[in-house]
Amino acid sequence: MTYEVVIGLEIHAQLKTDTKIFCGCSTRFGAAPNSQTCPVCLGMPGVLPVVNKKAVEYAIKAGLSMNCDILMDNRFARKNYFYPDLPMGYQITQFDLPIAQKGYLDITLGNGSKKRIGITRIHMENDAGKSNHDPHRPISLVDLNRAGTPLIEIVSEPDMRSAEEAGAFMRQIHALVRYVGVCDGNMEEGSLRCDANVSLRRPGASQFGTRTEMKNLNSFRNIERAIVSEINRQADILDDGGAIVQETRLWNADEGKSVSMRSKEDAHDYRYFPDPDLLPIIIDEVWLARIKDSIPELPEAKKERYSSELGLSAEDAAVLTSSIELARYFERCLAMINKPKLVANWVMVSLLALINAQNISIDDAPVSPESLAELLALVDTDVISGTMAKTVFEDMAKSGKSPKLIVEEKGLAQVSDTSEIEAIVDRILNENPSEVDAFKGGKTKLMGFFVGQIMRATQGKANPAVVNQLLADKLK
Ligand code: ADP
Ligand code: MG
Ligand code: ZN
Repeated sequence: MTYEVVIGLEIHAQLKTDTKIFCGCSTRFGAAPNSQTCPVCLGMPGVLPVVNKKAVEYAIKAGLSMNCDILMDNRFARKNYFYPDLPMGYQITQFDLPIAQKGYLDITLGNGSKKRIGITRIHMENDAGKSNHDPHRPISLVDLNRAGTPLIEIVSEPDMRSAEEAGAFMRQIHALVRYVGVCDGNMEEGSLRCDANVSLRRPGASQFGTRTEMKNLNSFRNIERAIVSEINRQADILDDGGAIVQETRLWNADEGKSVSMRSKEDAHDYRYFPDPDLLPIIIDEVWLARIKDSIPELPEAKKERYSSELGLSAEDAAVLTSSIELARYFERCLAMINKPKLVANWVMVSLLALINAQNISIDDAPVSPESLAELLALVDTDVISGTMAKTVFEDMAKSGKSPKLIVEEKGLAQVSDTSEIEAIVDRILNENPSEVDAFKGGKTKLMGFFVGQIMRATQGKANPAVVNQLLADKLK
């Protein structure tokens, strides 16, 4: 039977502040267990949380970048539940008055079409600690370094209709939080993580089916795999006449399947109420305007501009704007040599190949945008051919030398001097009289033969345009 797939994502992004959301403890990753704690984040009785202004600013930035309305008067609420890694016995989050709501993102699908996905709300909250279950002994240890780390939760509308759409949405969130600099986007370390809500319904049905929530999705690939697996699991149950149980499921990436974790609580189970320890957050217009001004050009606008102003194809524009580092690299290079297509090709082919081969980030690329621009200027002014430039680029990546120096040392400079090339052209024509006759008799395909001979004689250094021109003149 066929079903319509309905997906909504809940995405947690760890805000890139130096300190926690309600105390001054460090948020640095990887410190010794419980070394970054204080009475506030340990949940001692009688302590008072104070909100981190930077965290609020980052939440606003995220909201603005996702086209949300910012609530100028928003509040923290307590979400009450017991868990060993939650020392306060409640999470401080936002409930009826979140900092941002009613936003959207336009995602681009594989066939190039666009789709708008609604964002219900973005709220701020603190993270819990981490339980470490000892595999050898029947004990668990709690590390509260992470307790109190600032998070935003981005809740989407149930607008996605396939795993592909969910993947595209998550990729865009990932790009955006990094563009505006509020989250490092490191999914492996859990800085950006996603729960996928999935349900099925018969095509044309007016109501949504019962959903499950899939947790523990720590890569784009796992998001897509887990959703496909859940769609199949639910379809099998419905095909057999069964009913879907509303529950939270845990994705096991190694086995490629999920297991039930717990039945799903309803909102009222948490006894939400406004946190009496924290004042409402009142945002004034001046502050909001300042934050708006600090937001850089976002990927969608950039993509648009790369196509309309720079004349790049939609595909190239999409690749170059996929991360802020790549776009920055491209723009820095372009600032030195204004040849958008040439620069785009080199960044997308040679630079990305280098980055991928060495498994490093763009910012650590051994060839700087300025050096690449220097190399491309040599190509653009016919000092070296495109083919030679590839060799020079490889050398630059290895030695860190400037392209000019490499060209000099290796004697790679292209010969464009007509008289120098003419002597060689004459020699080649003299050495091959029968080919010359055949050419003049109509075998024009021999042009390639002549060009080849001349290139060999000059070790590839003759400027092909000059060679072609000279040959055309002499073989008339
Ligand atoms: P919670 O999971 O915390 O109870 P919500 O009720 O706000 O929170 O819903 C969480 C997510 O589930 C949202 O992203 C929403 O779009 C999505 N969702 C809600 N109903 C369905 C459904 N029937 N099928 C798929 N996703 C759904
Ligand atoms: Mg949920
Ligand atoms: Zn603390």
